[in-house]
Amino acid sequence: MRNQKNSNFTIFYLSSEGKKLAEKLRILLKKAEIYKLKKELIAEIWQKGNILIFIMALGIVIRQITEFVKSKKEDPGVLVINETGKFVIPLLGGHSAEVNKIAQELADFTGAEPVITTASDSKALPALDLWIKRMGLISKNPEILPKIMAIFNERRYLKVYKEINLKIPLFNFAKEVDNYREAEVIITNKSLGNLKTQLILIAPNLWVGLGFHEGITEKEIEIAINKVFKEKNLDILALKGIATLEKKAKYLPLKTFCQNKKLILLGFNKDELQKKEACTPSKKVFQAVEVYSVSEQSALVASKGALLIPKRTLKNITIAVAEEIYRIPGKLYIVGTGPGKIEYLTLKALTILREAEVIVGYKTYLKFLERLLPGKEIYNFSMTEEIKRAKKAIEEALKGKIVALISGGDPGIYGMAGLVLEILGKNNLSLEVEIIPGISALNACSALIGAPLMNDFAVISLSDRLTPWEEIKKRLNLISQADLPIVIYNPRSKKRKIQLSEAKKIILQYRKETIPVAVVCSAMRDSQKIYFTTLGELDENLVDMKSTIIIGSSKSFYFNQWFITPRGYERKYEKEFEISSFLE
Ligand code: SAH
Repeated sequence: MRNQKNSNFTIFYLSSEGKKLAEKLRILLKKAEIYKLKKELIAEIWQKGNILIFIMALGIVIRQITEFVKSKKEDPGVLVINETGKFVIPLLGGHSAEVNKIAQELADFTGAEPVITTASDSKALPALDLWIKRMGLISKNPEILPKIMAIFNERRYLKVYKEINLKIPLFNFAKEVDNYREAEVIITNKSLGNLKTQLILIAPNLWVGLGFHEGITEKEIEIAINKVFKEKNLDILALKGIATLEKKAKYLPLKTFCQNKKLILLGFNKDELQKKEACTPSKKVFQAVEVYSVSEQSALVASKGALLIPKRTLKNITIAVAEEIYRIPGKLYIVGTGPGKIEYLTLKALTILREAEVIVGYKTYLKFLERLLPGKEIYNFSMTEEIKRAKKAIEEALKGKIVALISGGDPGIYGMAGLVLEILGKNNLSLEVEIIPGISALNACSALIGAPLMNDFAVISLSDRLTPWEEIKKRLNLISQADLPIVIYNPRSKKRKIQLSEAKKIILQYRKETIPVAVVCSAMRDSQKIYFTTLGELDENLVDMKSTIIIGSSKSFYFNQWFITPRGYERKYEKEFEISSFLE
């Protein structure tokens, strides 16, 4: 937890149940001290400034701490968790919204509900750090945040300086000042040196236009950009993306550089680039690539703004920098929500769903998430409307919203990730995208039936909506010969029945009728159903569009209620397998 660096946690419990929960919390709060409730100890710890967590009834806590409570500024953070661990209540610590955040993190960890009662009315500073994050700003010196909070508590407003091209709404108790020296908070893309008393927030609104000869390395790109930024006093954290010619954007070291630095990479063709005029045109460049200045025109087109640094030529690279008008940034998360019920979401997916303002998805999956979605803007499409869903999500994110596009299972496995990235690429859109992986049907189904995919395996979808059936048949033929377990997605629907019969025939050409086959329908949902059978006896009528089929290899076998494909241990370590003490 972020907070741990500054303060430690002390956990008080009363009962053995409370103690168990305290021990569990220590997995998250590694350095936490745990004590049975004792008044003298509270007094001591109150002085130290540790964050206190009480695992007991709220009434007991109030009676214990009342005499120590002084003021918002002096009191340490206090949280209460009921003994069954169902609710986490941030009780004191309102001067920094930190305690609310800790409550949320503890709740995420234990599966509890955080009971947040503070309102962010206009008199209270909204969690400054949350606002910074939402505005997409990067804090250069977060360590001075508490000082800035203290100024606000005293004076009830903050003096803020922001550069002209940054169109971000300031909270309603910030006063804008014209000179950055007078400000307590500076929002900029410039490098202002080491200011010790002012909070510096960087707005990433700079685009580098890049021209280069192939052969340059990632490191050379980085050094060149850093050099230009430094010379011109721009902060490197303000770099939003890199633009270049379409064919140069294919250059792998450049792609690697952008991916690692989390920069958007855009490639434009000559017609797109010619829409903006170069400020330093070169005939030689025009003869080679039919534009007058790759770096300047790319930066201008990508930023839709103005040139800040005209072309600079360094060794094998030319660089220009343009500035975009900065608005509240949107973000598109493509969230894998797993096979069904909420508990199979990852913690990360849960956090994103809580944070998202807009949810785009389709009925079945949204239903599982229902209780996470009140108050959100929801767009619900039918199953086959993937393109509409992807476009809607992109459009809403481009408007400056935080969007979660729901993709069942994992977004990268027959999910929404590929489609979104293709549409973005086709339209050359600069949008921040993050893909949140999820538990795919193959993970869920194999876990339910045992260990069928312990060694290599193949995965195939029988849906011929986007892949020609002839091609699918060819693939089936090849993977069946490879004697690997096969996972079949989209095996059968009301309208699509013959594919599974044909697939079975193809596989039977290479595999015995007796090999194990499992059909898992609606894994991790209320209607979950598992059928164990063999390839010869597979009853296709049991299979629907919510099923995944796992077909064994020649090595797979059933043992009791489990389906196993051995990894190979028994060949090597068979003697060590025996657990003799249990066999007596
Ligand atoms: N992205 C999803 C797959 C979407 S394709 C994932 O990673 O799981 C849809 C197919 O996935 C269905 O036809 C079915 O074969 C499989 N599937 C999805 N959820 C499932 C579940 N809960 N149980 C069994 N199969 C499932």
